[in-house]
Amino acid sequence: MSRFDLSPPTPAQHDALVAGLSPDERRVLLQHGTEAPFCGVFLDNKREGTYCCRLCGLPLFRSSTKFDSGTGWPSFFAPYDEAHVGRIRDTSHGMIRTEIVCARCGSHLGHVFPDGPPPTHERHCLNSVSLAFTEAAQPLPDPLHRGGAEGGPA
Ligand SMILES: [Zn+2]
Repeated sequence: MSRFDLSPPTPAQHDALVAGLSPDERRVLLQHGTEAPFCGVFLDNKREGTYCCRLCGLPLFRSSTKFDSGTGWPSFFAPYDEAHVGRIRDTSHGMIRTEIVCARCGSHLGHVFPDGPPPTHERHCLNSVSLAFTEAAQPLPDPLHRGGAEGGPA
């Protein structure tokens, strides 16, 4: 069980969060876009901390599961919590892939592939613009003002 409140943002909250996004962020998060490889700001980020949903702030990945996949996108072998990352079958572009989305707000994150390192052998391939990074021991973002367990140290 996640200690986070996974109920989706209200339509009004969603609209307010979307209003704070840049055009690039909207294209990826809301319209399933993909950023160019080797351009994302988090590709070479080696700092310790938590990667959260750019839109709603839900923790999605830990720096301890980040690895260099050589693909040009930040990659993780496991989610922060399985309940935080939703999986959707994606048959666009003539391929069968598994899209990953924020389980709380539905924002597009990237795709997951079965060619990652142990122990999971999964490669969660992320768009940097879908993520917000919080340094270890800093308060997590809480844009929905849920309080409680949220906002505590990562
Ligand atoms: Zn989210």
